[in-house]
Amino acid sequence: MSTKKILVTPGDGIGPEVSAQAILVLKKIAPRFGLELELSEKPVGGAAYDLTGTPIPDETLEAAKNSDAVLLGAVGGPKWESLDFSVRPERGLLKLRSELELYANLRPAVIYGDLVNASTLKPEVVEGADLMVVRELTGGIYFGEPRGIEIRNGERVGFNTLVYSESEIRRIAKVGFEIAMKRGKKLTSVDKANVLESTELWREVVTEVGKDFPEVELSHMYADNAAMQIIRNPKQFDTMVTTNMFGDILSDAAAMMTGSLGMLPSASIGGNIGMYEPVHGSAPDISGQDKANPLAMILSVGMMLRYSFDLGEADEIIKQAVVETLDTYRTGDVMAEGKTLIGCIEMGEKVLEALEQI
Ligand code: NAD
Repeated sequence: MSTKKILVTPGDGIGPEVSAQAILVLKKIAPRFGLELELSEKPVGGAAYDLTGTPIPDETLEAAKNSDAVLLGAVGGPKWESLDFSVRPERGLLKLRSELELYANLRPAVIYGDLVNASTLKPEVVEGADLMVVRELTGGIYFGEPRGIEIRNGERVGFNTLVYSESEIRRIAKVGFEIAMKRGKKLTSVDKANVLESTELWREVVTEVGKDFPEVELSHMYADNAAMQIIRNPKQFDTMVTTNMFGDILSDAAAMMTGSLGMLPSASIGGNIGMYEPVHGSAPDISGQDKANPLAMILSVGMMLRYSFDLGEADEIIKQAVVETLDTYRTGDVMAEGKTLIGCIEMGEKVLEALEQI
């Protein structure tokens, strides 16, 4: 048995509802893989602000740093929207990411079973698509200096800086190749090397790192073309690695080919401790009504098992249980004709039942 310390930060809105189901799934699957769990729970976001006056109390940060992985629900909601920027729920999330040095964000876009009909793209275009976007998360134009708005020649000018050091590119490229090695061994690096020097360097360094991964087929693509190709033929991609801003945009585009926010997990890795969370927010419009789809959070548990504990097989089993459950049962967000509508709690129970059969 190996013991893993997992910090759960359920957060706000539907966060606690989906977290509860995800924890049940984790508890169910752990013994099959010889994992003993030490689970603890701490507040983050608006819930933490209400208790302590800060969206990320020191106690939560310390617990995160002393854990093997963090599972986060979602943060935010109208209740906290008028707060000063410095104590808004989202600051808690950003602080956690930066303190844990999570420079790589992994966003899979997979079409599960007959959810193919939930996509706005044609079924023949998306059926079988399985793309992983690896986004650089702590550098690039969102953080580059100088930045600001100032008066120049009598008018306001806004400016930001797209800057990447060789070491920043090298480490995210390495993550991209390592992920590709565990998947279909095809990596597409996305840049704008034709017009941006910083991404000309990006292309050079990614190519250099590629020499250490001879089994991975590396290709380069301009960001505008990548956006087009994701919509035109997403099945051509296996793993994609890109900058913070291109990744922000392309991972949302890729994710939406799946049709539903309630199905999208994510992982943020890089430092010693990974953080796993659904892509969706706290969904205040449905919170407390047992309507949330817990599958994004449950699939995030799968990503944790794969990327933090090297248990890809456990991730596959969870995905299979999700696909089988969706065959019959649906929450409102992915409801379709002929399926049975159920709530968040029951969806968790159905996944547990499916797990027992696999
Ligand atoms: P949202 O993702 O919370 O909700 C968008 C829509 O999708 C809503 O109609 C919601 O009901 C639905 N939805 C989302 N997740 C669902 C699920 N699991 N099951 C069923 N339906 C689901 O985005 P929003 O409404 O723009 O934001 C609400 C709050 O969440 C805001 O305070 C925002 O800042 C915050 N937020 C947090 C995160 C995060 O914690 N990572 C991410 C995005 C938004």
